[in-house]
Amino acid sequence: MFQLSKRLVRALGFFPCILVLAIIACGYYVTTVATFIPLLSSSHFVGILGLLVTQLLVLNILINFLLSIFCDPGGVPNSWKPSESMKNIRGSWSRTVQWVQTEETGDMQSVLTWEFKRNGAPRFCRYCATYKPDRTHHCRSCKRCILKMDHHCPWINNCVGFYNQKFFILFVYYAFLGCLFVSVTGVVTLKRALFIIGEEEGKQVVSAAFVVICYCLVTIFGLALLFFAVFHTLLVLKGRTTIEMHEIRDLARARIVRKYDLGWKRNWKKVFGNNVLYWFLPVRWSIDGDGLTFESNVEEQRISLMEDDDGV
Ligand SMILES: [Zn+2]
Ligand SMILES: [Zn+2]
Repeated sequence: MFQLSKRLVRALGFFPCILVLAIIACGYYVTTVATFIPLLSSSHFVGILGLLVTQLLVLNILINFLLSIFCDPGGVPNSWKPSESMKNIRGSWSRTVQWVQTEETGDMQSVLTWEFKRNGAPRFCRYCATYKPDRTHHCRSCKRCILKMDHHCPWINNCVGFYNQKFFILFVYYAFLGCLFVSVTGVVTLKRALFIIGEEEGKQVVSAAFVVICYCLVTIFGLALLFFAVFHTLLVLKGRTTIEMHEIRDLARARIVRKYDLGWKRNWKKVFGNNVLYWFLPVRWSIDGDGLTFESNVEEQRISLMEDDDGV
C-alpha cells in the first residue's frame, strides 16, 4: 500500500510536465495548423519559412525540456569526502583556503573555496549521511543532495543543478522564443478566429474558439517565461544560483557567495561552455568542472588568507 502511494505521488509529479507539453501542442496548433498551412496556398515562401521556423523552435524546446527532466542534475559520489588537506595541524577541520601555483606564471592562485559550518566543521547532510561539497544542497522533493543546486522545479519534476542547468535555461529561452513567435505570427489568425466567433455558427465557431484559447494560453505562458529568462540570465551573469540569491541576505553567507563571481563573461562560460558554437545547443561538450569544486575570485580569497594569517 505504501509502495503504491509512493508510485502515485511520483506519477503525479509529472502532471505539470504534461501541462507544459499541452501548452507546446497549443502553440504548435496555432502556428502550423491554423496559420502557416492555410498560408501555403496564397504565399508559398512565407508558409514554408514559417513552418520551418516552427519545427526548429519546437525541436529545441522539446529536446531541452526532456533533457531538463531526465538529465541527472548531479549527486554527491559515494566516495566523496572533504580533502584531508583541509584539516589543520592538530587534525581538526579549519577554515583554510587552498592555493596552488599556476604552471605558466608561478603566481599563487586560488582554485578551491570551502563552505563550512559556523563552527568550522565541514557541511554534512543528515538525511543522506554524507558530506556536502560547496554549493550542494539537500532537496526534500528529490530526497537527495544535488550538486550546485539552483532550485527544485515542479515544471520539470526535477532539480536544476550542475549537470542540467544549461538545458533548463535553454528550455526557458527557446520556450519564450516559441511563445513570442506564436503571439506575433498568430495575430492575423486570432483576428480571423474572433471574427468567426462573432459572425458564424456551428462547427467553425468551436475550432475558432479553440484557436483563441490556445493563443491566449501561449501568450500568458510566454510572459511568465520572459520573467524567468531575465531572472536566470542575471543570476548566471552574477555567478549565483537561486538558493545563493536568497542566502546573500545573510552577511556571513554573502561573503562566501560573492567568491563564486568570476566576472560576467567567465560566469556565463561556466554554465554555457567555453565554445561559443555550443552555447545555444543542447550539449555540455565545452563545460568544465565536476560540480564538486568551484573556482573563486582571487581578490576575495586574498582577504580570506590575510584574515586566516591574523588568526581570525
Ligand atoms: Zn542530502
Ligand atoms: Zn529536487
